[in-house]
Amino acid sequence: MTATETAVLVNTPNGLYCPDGDFYIDPYRPVGNAIITHGHSDHARPGMGSYWCSAASEPLLRHRLGADIQLTALEYGQQVAFNGVTVSLHPAGHIRGSAQVRVANESQVWVVSGDYKRCYDPTTEPFEVIPCDVFITEATFANPIYRWRPGVETAGEIYDWWMTNRAQGLTSILFCYALGKVQRVLAELVNFTQEPVYAHGAVMPLYEIYQQQGVAMLPVQNTAQLEKSHDYTGGLVVAPPSAHRSTWMKRFKNVSTGFASGWMQVRGARRRRGYHRGFVMSDHADWQGLIDTVQQTGCRQVYATHGDEETLTRYLRSIDVQADSLSSLPRLQPQTTLQVSHETAEQ
Ligand SMILES: [Zn+2]
Ligand SMILES: [Zn+2]
Repeated sequence: MTATETAVLVNTPNGLYCPDGDFYIDPYRPVGNAIITHGHSDHARPGMGSYWCSAASEPLLRHRLGADIQLTALEYGQQVAFNGVTVSLHPAGHIRGSAQVRVANESQVWVVSGDYKRCYDPTTEPFEVIPCDVFITEATFANPIYRWRPGVETAGEIYDWWMTNRAQGLTSILFCYALGKVQRVLAELVNFTQEPVYAHGAVMPLYEIYQQQGVAMLPVQNTAQLEKSHDYTGGLVVAPPSAHRSTWMKRFKNVSTGFASGWMQVRGARRRRGYHRGFVMSDHADWQGLIDTVQQTGCRQVYATHGDEETLTRYLRSIDVQADSLSSLPRLQPQTTLQVSHETAEQ
C-alpha cells in the first residue's frame, strides 16, 4: 500500500472491519453490522445486531442462528451503500449461497474471497472473478500437493465403493460435512444412480434447504424415522463426522466407513481418523485454483488468511505479486461494538 492510500479494511479484535462503512465481514464476536460470506459456523456466528448475506444463504443462516435474526438478503451483484462505501456479494463456489464480498470506495476496490473453489459443483453458483485492487484470499489448501479432480470422478469412486460393499453384504457409511459436502456428494451421485440413500437426522434440515432451492440430489430416508431394527445392508448412509463412533452407529451391523474431504489427499490422514476409505473432495480452492484466481483478479496486493499463508505469499512474491498475511493489515480497536464491553474487546 502506498502512503497516500489508506486500508479499506483493517483487523480488529472482532474480525475484519471497514472503518468508513462501519461493518464487519464474518466477525468473530457480536458486533452491530455483520456481512456474512456463508453459512459455515466459523463464518456465520450468533449474536450480531444485523446480518447481510446472499439470498441463497438466508435460510441456512436462519436455520443455524435463529429464524428471528435481523437479516438483509442480497442478490448476487446487488449493491448496498454503507456510509458511501459500496458493498456487493458475488458467487464464491464454495457451498450454496457462498459469497465473496466486494468493498469499494471512490478510489479502491477490495474483494474478500471468503472460502471458495474453482471446480464445478452442481449445488452452487460457480465462482466469479471480480477485478480488484486488493484481494483477500483464503489459503486452506495452499500447497502444491493439493490438486483436485472433478467432483464427478470422486462421486464415481464413492459409487463403486458402495457397490463393492453391497456385494460383500456391507453397509457403506460416508462421513462428510453436513453443510455443503453431503449435498454435493448426493448431487454428483445422480450421475450414477437414482437409488435412495439414508441420511443421519442432523443432515436433513440442510438437505431440505438445498432441495427447496431446486438442487437435484439423490432421495434420502432419515435414519431417525426408521425402526432401530431396520436392515441397512447394502445401503449407503451419509452422516456428519461427529456421528462417527457415536451410539448412532450401533444400528448398523457390518459396515465400511468412508470420509470425503480435501484432507484425504494427505498420506495417513484416513488411517489417523479411523476410516476404511478416504475420498478426496474439497470445497476449497486447490493450489492452482488459488494462483489462477489471484492472477485473474488483476489485483496489485494479496492478503492471505485461513491456512498456509506463508507458502502462498512466498510463492506469489516469487512471481512478482505483492502478497502478505492478512495479519499484516493495520490493527484497530473498534469504535462500535455490540454487547461487548470495552474490557472484553481489548483482551
Ligand atoms: Zn466454509
Ligand atoms: Zn471457512
